[in-house]
Amino acid sequence: MNSVYTDILIAGAGLAGIKAAYSASLCGLKVAVISKSSIAASNYILGFNAAVSENDSTALFCEDTVKGGKYIGKQELAFTLAKNSADEVKNIEHLGLKFDKNEKGYNLLRPLGCSTERLVHIENHTGKTTLERYKEEAVKNGVKIIDNAMLCDLITKDNKVIGASVFDLQNEIKFYICAKAVVLACGGIHIESESTYAPCMTGDGYGAALRAGAYLTDMEFIQFEPCRCIFPQKLGISTTLLSHGGKITNKNGERFLLKEYSSEGEIPKDSLAKLIYAEIKKGNGTPHGGVYLDLTDIPEKEIKKGHILYYKRFLGAGIDITKEKIEVAPCAHSFMGGVVVDEKCRTSVNGLFAAGEVTGGLHGANRVGGNAGTEVYVFGTIAGKSAAEYAKNCSVPHPSFSEEQTSVYGNAQKDFFENIKKTIYENMSNYMGPLRTEKELVLLKTKLKEISEQIRDYTPADFKAEVSKKECENMLVVCTCCVKAAIKRKESRGVHSRKDYPNTDDKYLLSFIFSKDDI
Ligand SMILES: Cc1cc2nc3c(=O)[nH]c(=O)nc-3n(C[C@H](O)[C@H](O)[C@H](O)COP(=O)(O)OP(=O)(O)OC[C@H]3O[C@@H](n4cnc5c(N)ncnc54)[C@H](O)[C@@H]3O)c2cc1C
Repeated sequence: MNSVYTDILIAGAGLAGIKAAYSASLCGLKVAVISKSSIAASNYILGFNAAVSENDSTALFCEDTVKGGKYIGKQELAFTLAKNSADEVKNIEHLGLKFDKNEKGYNLLRPLGCSTERLVHIENHTGKTTLERYKEEAVKNGVKIIDNAMLCDLITKDNKVIGASVFDLQNEIKFYICAKAVVLACGGIHIESESTYAPCMTGDGYGAALRAGAYLTDMEFIQFEPCRCIFPQKLGISTTLLSHGGKITNKNGERFLLKEYSSEGEIPKDSLAKLIYAEIKKGNGTPHGGVYLDLTDIPEKEIKKGHILYYKRFLGAGIDITKEKIEVAPCAHSFMGGVVVDEKCRTSVNGLFAAGEVTGGLHGANRVGGNAGTEVYVFGTIAGKSAAEYAKNCSVPHPSFSEEQTSVYGNAQKDFFENIKKTIYENMSNYMGPLRTEKELVLLKTKLKEISEQIRDYTPADFKAEVSKKECENMLVVCTCCVKAAIKRKESRGVHSRKDYPNTDDKYLLSFIFSKDDI
């Protein structure tokens, strides 16, 4: 059995993980990063919020974050985010990277929910550029990055993390890493068939954290992108095209959104997602289960000039959006909920830290545009520092454990578990969309319980099936917490909308917290 030793183990090589690795490596400790796949949402970050303009301040940034989250988010996390945002801009510049500027200074954009211009950016590839650069720096500092390695479970002793079991996906073996501290940075989850996340994102960080004794919070809050192209091909497209004359119609050609609004372009994103979802649920959807997005009345010149990214993306797939309608539907995008952490990224398990999208509590009931970017830089840095500080003071010089186990295999093939995943996606898409009802949520809870019971009795036939089963278990942890929290929250707040409880009720000015006993 293989065992590897490190001071700090980081699970996830997106920006939160790599920033944590970089900042821990500056403290002179041995750091290893495991990464399940080369895919990371961090590569899509266009820019991030930072209080760098003279119209802005830590207080205003913090206030926007708390208000945007409908007062559910933790104020100490919002304050930490805002206070450290400008430093992260300086840190990036210190590496020689340059943000877009104009004659006034930073060329700031104003994301949804910000009361002033706040988004700094390096063209529109801030995430990719900074991730590559920080990775280079981390490796230079001696950080070991282990690719194709999936966190299976955290290993704890007396509520203290001492390492992890890991699947080596390339060589198809399980191995163990002993560590003084672990940082979880596994990102979000692909929770529905049409989500913007890659299917390999199966919520492993949430599952491992809960099983190890940490808590999950705010799991009912899932942000939906109102319009993702589902036919002729699955592709992302921006809703900003609606304010330039884009139209949305149902299967009968009706512009149903105009019953409540004077144009599609003026509808806030969360309302747009709910209205489209309701129309599809009414049976007025297109053949592939969406609505039509028609951009053919927008002058071709305008699309080619202002939206060339989307024009080219669709043309590459053989679709000319200036000439043909596409079918779009709301899809799960960002996950607000996650592992409970304090402002030093500590969880309730000693030696276990978490940063980035895998954590909950910062965004509350809705995430302000551009804040997810800030989150990964600020809290990645803090998590690395906190883990290093903890590891330096750790009394056990070389954690050791006896949990190494040889897998026992049975009959259930990988395909069996992959089909379970499809059933989970289908049920989540059907009953946990942008507009929820008690009846559907209760039905979903029952179905998830049945699925959990069903897979419990199946022993994987081989390594690949074992990995797939673990992924199903992780997905079920997340989905079960989501549905239980959504049932408890009998009100509509932020991105959680209940058809049967359309109003906000201050009785629910609180967060629901889950432990392993709740699953
Ligand atoms: C299409 C898209 C566009 C976005 N645009 C913006 C934007 O413009 N601005 C903004 O602020 N936010 C944006 N976001 C949100 C933002 O990208 C994410 O919240 C943020 O990047 C999360 O970073 P992270 O490091 O926590 O996770 P990620 O970047 O997703 O990285 C997670 C890492 O964990 C690894 N991993 C997963 N499971 C395991 C496991 N079991 N073991 C080991 N490794 C594991 C993955 O392989 C990956 O390396 C966007 C998201 C998407 C999907």
